[in-house]
Amino acid sequence: MDCIFCRIANREIPARLVYEDDLVVAFEDTNPKAPVHVLIIPKKHIPTNLEIADTDNALVGHMFQVANKIAGERGIAGKGFRLVMNCNEDAGQSVFHIHLHLLGGRSLSWPPG
Ligand code: AMP
Repeated sequence: MDCIFCRIANREIPARLVYEDDLVVAFEDTNPKAPVHVLIIPKKHIPTNLEIADTDNALVGHMFQVANKIAGERGIAGKGFRLVMNCNEDAGQSVFHIHLHLLGGRSLSWPPG
C-alpha cells in the first residue's frame, strides 16, 4: 500500500512533526490554510471516516484530545479553532488516510466553500 500519511507515520518521508505517541502523529500541513494548520492522523491506516469501526472509537476520541492539546499549546483554544475531516470527492479529500485538520489563528468563515 502506498499511502503518503502511512509513510510519514513510519518516518519514511519527512514531515514537520509536532506530536507523536503510540496511536497518532501530528504534523504541519505543507499547504497551510490558516496560521495554524496541523494534521492529526492515526498510525493505523483508515481510508475515510466511513471505515471507522467500533473498535476505533477510542482512537478517534484520542485524535480529538490531541487536537485540543495542540490548540492549547498554540494559544488558539480560547479564541477558537476548527477541526475538519473531509470525506470523499465532494468534500475534496485528497489523501485517503483519515486526518483531522486543526485550523486556527484567524477568524474562519462559515459556511466553508
Ligand atoms: P484533504 O484534502 O482533507 O485530504 O487534506 C489533505 C491535506 O494534506 C492537504 O491540506 C495537504 O496540503 C496536506 N498534505 C499533503 N501531503 C502532505 C505532506 N507530505 N505533508 C504535510 N501535509 C500534506
